[in-house]
Amino acid sequence: MAAYAVEPTATAPLRGYTAEHSASEVQWEQKFRALPNTDNLRENMRRLSARPHHVGSPYDKDNAEWLVAQLKSYGLDAKIEQFEALFPTPKSRKLELLGPAKFTAKLEEPTLAIDPTSGQKSEQLPTYNAYSADGDVTAPLVYVNYGAPADYEELERMGVSVKGAIVIARYGQTWRGIKPKLAAQHGAIGCLIYSDPKDDGYVRGESFPEGPMRSAEGAQRGSVMDMPVYPGDPQTPGIGAKPGVKLIPLNQVQTITKIPVMPISYEDAKPFLLALGGQVVPDAWRGGLPLTYKTGPSKVMGHLALAFNWDRKPLYDVVATIPGATFPDQWVIRGNHHDGWVNGAGDPISGASPELEEARSLGELLKQGWKPARTILYCWWDGEEPALLGSTEWAEFHADELKEHAVAYFNSDGNGRGFFRAEGAHSLENFINSVVKDVQDPETGMPVWKRAHLAALVRTGRGGEGEGSGGAESRNRPDTRIGALGSGSDYTVFIDHLGIASANLGYGGEDEGGGQYHSIYDDFYWYTHYSDTDFVYGRALAQTAGSMMMRMADADVIPYQFTDEADTVHNYVTEVKKLADTMRAQTKERNMNIAEGAYKAAADPKKVSVPPPVEAVPPYLNFGPLDQASDDLTAAAAAYEKAFAAHTASGDSAVNPELIKTERALMDPNGLPNRPWFENMVYAPGFYTGYGVKTLPAVREAIEQKEWPTVDAQIVRTADALEREVDVLKTATKMLSGN
Ligand SMILES: [Zn+2]
Repeated sequence: MAAYAVEPTATAPLRGYTAEHSASEVQWEQKFRALPNTDNLRENMRRLSARPHHVGSPYDKDNAEWLVAQLKSYGLDAKIEQFEALFPTPKSRKLELLGPAKFTAKLEEPTLAIDPTSGQKSEQLPTYNAYSADGDVTAPLVYVNYGAPADYEELERMGVSVKGAIVIARYGQTWRGIKPKLAAQHGAIGCLIYSDPKDDGYVRGESFPEGPMRSAEGAQRGSVMDMPVYPGDPQTPGIGAKPGVKLIPLNQVQTITKIPVMPISYEDAKPFLLALGGQVVPDAWRGGLPLTYKTGPSKVMGHLALAFNWDRKPLYDVVATIPGATFPDQWVIRGNHHDGWVNGAGDPISGASPELEEARSLGELLKQGWKPARTILYCWWDGEEPALLGSTEWAEFHADELKEHAVAYFNSDGNGRGFFRAEGAHSLENFINSVVKDVQDPETGMPVWKRAHLAALVRTGRGGEGEGSGGAESRNRPDTRIGALGSGSDYTVFIDHLGIASANLGYGGEDEGGGQYHSIYDDFYWYTHYSDTDFVYGRALAQTAGSMMMRMADADVIPYQFTDEADTVHNYVTEVKKLADTMRAQTKERNMNIAEGAYKAAADPKKVSVPPPVEAVPPYLNFGPLDQASDDLTAAAAAYEKAFAAHTASGDSAVNPELIKTERALMDPNGLPNRPWFENMVYAPGFYTGYGVKTLPAVREAIEQKEWPTVDAQIVRTADALEREVDVLKTATKMLSGN
């Protein structure tokens, strides 16, 4: 049972609340945080992860129906919203090493007697990469390390080509879908991705079942769809796929891979790695297997033959609604996916189960008389694993309503043990900080915020782009910085396509996870032995996300805050300017080295070594519009903050519809270059990093990809987006100050 110390009552009213409303909110939230129960979390997980529940499986639908029944039993209005999407599954898979010592890969994760659900073979999806092309290829092998852009540059320097080859890449560093994309761009005709023990196996810890890490025959399923172009149903970009919707023909879909790709275990990968000839790889390319890693090519041929069923499958999104009493047309949305690759206890049930406890607890509060001011939606998405299918189709279908009504979206996914972490829209940074000051860390007893804040002082340099200068800054800045959102879970459509202030929440950093990821061993046995075994961090997640939902839903004035956002945007502008300067200096230096013969002199004449090509020196760019917009945003945010502080006590809420427009203003309907579905000019997943975020993406990627003639125009478009937000803020400020 939850035995929770009552938090000290806040002295100042909560941001966006009148003193009276603040006092009552604090009391309701304290009642709420006492409700989530670890026994329920354990039972929710046991039920939802009892059988494989991928898209199209009987238990996926069963789970959706069970969720609706649970929600109704809590007194909530809940339903399934059904969509459909292309979801390929394997028809046949074959991988062989030809030649005198012929080897056929097993492509099979073994049942373990100690792990009760690992033997549900007839219901498990086999190991595969979803949205791989069909193909039957025979070719020599080349090792490409992680298969990232820099790895291909390095291979070129070693005189190794992947043209006509099957590349073998290891999992890690880049999102998996980038590996076949880059391999195909460099002329490869097939792609293998294996789990090296150095990345998530015995080098890191005991392997399963003795420990949490990946075993010799464990393999990582996963999507390789080109989601940086657009996620969701490949046949209906931008349109919510209700049954009967008009489809793009399969042969015109651009997000399916160009070459066949297959994930394998390191046991299956070993014979292929041993067959590689060529040079010994650079230090950083070596994995943890007891063999000499070489680039290849191999003398013997690999044979990869894959065929898929290209079926459309139903998606069952579960949506529960609590109508708002004061502002029913302003929506606060919560979501976590419910589908898994197999049993999916860690991913996603460790997040979906706390979300269900939040909903139960809010049901309790409703019975006690609490009424949210805004409308609250609780969603469990289907089809996240293949391609964020359920959330994307739902949000595309409801796009017009969402653009008008959505105030914020709070996402979670797999949850672990340890430190609070959040990434999100920076207009939510102060709000997120405020809520986690009121949630208790189960292991230390200190507020979650305090622990994360203190941990940041000793672990400087952690976090994504835009992370500040570490200790000194953490001490002096009132709010702990949150990272920016890339992609990799269901918040993508909300922030990147619709411009809704979104955040992704979770706990982690102490559980030694990773080795079970997307395997048949990510199940109840694994989770209850190696992750948040007593579910106290599941309870912390429910308390955290549920408090955010309540506090955002009940505020008189939506508690966005823009000075943090302006500060972060200023950092991003500084970064892209520095990036251009660094690339200019490096190109000059490299060109001089080439001219002086330095690469030739430094190379071992007995090894192949190709100097890099001479490149045009990057031009000086006009960052003026971006500097101006950043300064304007800083000034507008400060003016808004002043008006807000003077106004809050009155509780006048007329400004809210204007505030909802602030995040929308960052959207450019023409979208990013080559991927118009992504409209946010501040945040996007990287075109060549996948999950990894690129902030000010149109500018940053044009620089990184050396598309020099286009950069100035992208600077102007990005500055325009920021200026649109400035205009909205100015209007909001006027409304608050009453003139
Ligand atoms: Zn997930």
